[in-house]
Amino acid sequence: ILLPPQQRAAPRGVASSRLLSSLAVLEQRDGKLNVASLAAVTAARRLGGSVTGFVAGGPGIRAVAEEGLAESYAPMLVENIKNGGYTHVMTGHSAFGKNLLPRVAALLDVQQISDIIGIESEDTFVRTIYAGNAITTVQSSDNIKVITVRGTAFQSGAAEGGSAELVEGVDPKAENMTEWVSEDLTKSDRPELSTAERVVSGGRGLKSKEDFDRLIPPLADALGAAIGASRAAVDSGFADNSLQVGQTGKNVAPQLYLCAGISGAIQHLAGMKDSKVIAAINKDPDAPIFQVADVGLVGDLFEKVPELTQKLKG
Ligand code: FAD
Repeated sequence: ILLPPQQRAAPRGVASSRLLSSLAVLEQRDGKLNVASLAAVTAARRLGGSVTGFVAGGPGIRAVAEEGLAESYAPMLVENIKNGGYTHVMTGHSAFGKNLLPRVAALLDVQQISDIIGIESEDTFVRTIYAGNAITTVQSSDNIKVITVRGTAFQSGAAEGGSAELVEGVDPKAENMTEWVSEDLTKSDRPELSTAERVVSGGRGLKSKEDFDRLIPPLADALGAAIGASRAAVDSGFADNSLQVGQTGKNVAPQLYLCAGISGAIQHLAGMKDSKVIAAINKDPDAPIFQVADVGLVGDLFEKVPELTQKLKG
């Protein structure tokens, strides 16, 4: 277990009545840091006070798979939180964060604050409800604030540079009843959906898996984009579940979100409306997606998508 960066942050207008000290829990896989998880560092720095990054694992410590087990990770993290006297614990609102932090909050007997998009002060945070249709400001009176942060709301901190000191954490090696069996990861050469600069998404308008596979990947490749899908496309078997964008899928905020055959239901918009440029292809001029799109193309996607792909390639 490695307990690294001590960074002294410049307080950003957050009044500090006591010493703030945050622990940003970072994700790693095969010894490689998940850069998206650095959003937790950005959020912690915005709070002010000292920031410590926490990474479990590393060469020669434990098998990576075992560290991935939230049942063993949570008690170890809690031990390190108590040892370090942290006031705030933050991590990304990813599958990792969503699996780990509720366990940590329960062990610390505090209320977790999920998926924040803003920080008002050391105890007051902003988060969305009703699929992003309302914004709430919540205040916590717990002594340790356990928080997951929305990656698209806080830019990832720099992965390199700085002069952080490396400190070893503690590993209580708690016994637990869960055994690691195996994991099956989707392999893709394309950019990771949640962090991609460009995303090309397809919806029910694609009609079939064959058409989805024939039209969407070439357009995504021409743009160097990740592939996304609506829930209707996922439920119809056109695309893998891991590609779903929206309230019950992934949150994305790329520079370009280009979608075809997606109507723009609020649950879909909840996952992509923070994209810098939204471009939509839909045959229905009244499709709600055009209300949020910066660029709209009314037409048949079966013509327009191959045409666009050709133009981009040429
Ligand atoms: P549709 O709404 O059927 O739209 C298809 C669109 O394709 C239409 O606008 C049509 O005009 C267009 N089209 C058809 N043929 C063509 C053509 N040839 N050329 C061009 N355009 C064409 N949805 C999500 O996406 N993500 C979520 O995370 C999510 N979570 C949900 C959570 C809950 C609790 C609930 C209740 C729903 C959720 N949904 C989610 C579902 C959501 O409400 C919509 O049903 C879904 O987004 C619709 O997907 P779609 O736009 O692909 O399909």
